[in-house]
Amino acid sequence: MRRLCYLLSNNKTSFVLVLRSVCSYSLKQVEVLENRYQTMASRDPASDQLIQYKEKAKNVLPATTAHGTPITDKDATLTVGRRGPILLHDVPLIEELAHFDRERIPERVVHAKGAGAFGYFEVTHDITKYTRAKVFSQIGKKTPIAVRFSTVGGESGSADTVRDPRGFAVKFYTEDGIWDLVGNNTPIFFIRDPILFPSFIHTQKRNPQTHLKDADMFWDFLTLRPESIHQTMFLFSDRGIPDGYRHMNGYGSHAFKLVNSNGEYCFCKFHYKTDQGIKNLNVQRAGELAGSDPDYSIRDLYNAIARGDNPSWTFYIQVMTNEQAMKCPFNPFDLTKVWSHSEYPLIPVGKLVLNRNPENYFAEVEQVAFSPAHMVPGIEPSPDKMLLGRIFSYGDTHRHRLGPNYLQLPVNCPFRTANYIRDGPFVIHNQGAAPNYHPNSFLGPTNDTENKILSSESISGDVKRFDTWDDDNFSQASIFYRKTLTNEERERLLNNIVGNLKDASDFIQLRAVKNFSQIDVSFGEKIAEGLKLQRKTVAAL
Ligand code: NDP
Repeated sequence: MRRLCYLLSNNKTSFVLVLRSVCSYSLKQVEVLENRYQTMASRDPASDQLIQYKEKAKNVLPATTAHGTPITDKDATLTVGRRGPILLHDVPLIEELAHFDRERIPERVVHAKGAGAFGYFEVTHDITKYTRAKVFSQIGKKTPIAVRFSTVGGESGSADTVRDPRGFAVKFYTEDGIWDLVGNNTPIFFIRDPILFPSFIHTQKRNPQTHLKDADMFWDFLTLRPESIHQTMFLFSDRGIPDGYRHMNGYGSHAFKLVNSNGEYCFCKFHYKTDQGIKNLNVQRAGELAGSDPDYSIRDLYNAIARGDNPSWTFYIQVMTNEQAMKCPFNPFDLTKVWSHSEYPLIPVGKLVLNRNPENYFAEVEQVAFSPAHMVPGIEPSPDKMLLGRIFSYGDTHRHRLGPNYLQLPVNCPFRTANYIRDGPFVIHNQGAAPNYHPNSFLGPTNDTENKILSSESISGDVKRFDTWDDDNFSQASIFYRKTLTNEERERLLNNIVGNLKDASDFIQLRAVKNFSQIDVSFGEKIAEGLKLQRKTVAAL
């Protein structure tokens, strides 16, 4: 009945017709059921989660302590007399309080608020000439996936509908181990050198004294590092506030290396385009939702999957040969830049489909741990500095947040592991009686020679710190402004920037105008006008 209600929840006429024709109900019966349907249809699958649990569970199980012994009275502590003090040997009480005190783990430093779901990746086109990664080995092949969507800057209780990039991380459970594509909903990022990352994130979070978001911090950093301007334009465009997680694209963002079974390689970027169509929230609606339903995106994803309206994305690659990379007029491994579609067309590869909600949020979403270091044979890193920085940082933060054995948690573990990593907190699979040192004479795991095909590349250069602040920051942002956006989109971009930048100090506003003018002089002028900056001061820039 409940299922029928969901299916027909948008169509009352069909509901009545189905009951009348298929179920041969009388008009009176239909009326009674219709009233019931009205009450139920006002609740979505997310609101009904507990009711659905009850329907499935059927029986109540006897409670136990964590060590599995029966709890005989869950509603009263063990006391001396009716009013008396509590006893220390009330094991169920002490155990539950002590565990409760440790219930929270540190939230992610970035991407703290998120939603997750599970499904599969299916190959639709052959790309084996580029890569021997088994996940792409055959048309029709399906690989299980986990996906986590997130906002970036806010805490785990923050609103979903803020202007912020969105995380779009995909975990592929392949036969050659875990491949994590830890992407975002934009193909680029604010910076290109990981040494700036902690500072950049600090400026997107809270002021160290006031504990408030701070427009000076935000715009000071962005304007002092002009490589951020391309991503800043994306952020303040319509796509800066996607309508939930289903209506946005995903991008692996970095350049990677694809290696085929002959050891030949090319560079590649991954794109996953929404099959639901791009949909964004306007500023006013997003603001209202932040108050009325701060968990809007989590709810939307959960309900869609619960209704069987499974979201999907079409998966593409762009490829660039080494020769093309050498001749490329800009650094193709610079994360603040895209590869033009006309020069490096999108090549279709497959489909990502999400068809299962997590059974338990903490176990499967809070504990899911993605890392760009998790690559599989056939996919290797490019020299993108941000990618190389992330390859260190993600595993490091997971070891801090979840412990050194985080890869043994069910949601993170691969199909098979065999190595010499042992012990530490919370071991689940400690590899039994196998030898724990290498080399050994006792059949401990050894080199997988079948998989020894790695690309080979020679690199040389001066060991030095190269500050790339002046590395063609404006050309692509300019194309985006002049060619990609429509007049209406440009107008909204302008208003969004002015509405935010107005809270920064005057000298920072002036610096911003100077930078935006390099994208397009009229754009800078309009921003200055919107900010009501003195004409004379702007002219002197
Ligand atoms: P194309 O016209 O082939 O691609 C333009 C891209 O812009 C499309 O992928 C489109 O996505 C996307 N787009 C449209 N509106 C927005 C928005 N508000 N925010 C972010 N992306 C948007 O041109 P090029 O490949 O030559 O790129 C031109 C410019 O477009 C680039 O300089 C870059 O700023 C931007 N861009 C390029 C991408 C790339 O990978 N080449 C990807 C995204 C943006 P869709 O197809 O979904 O509508």
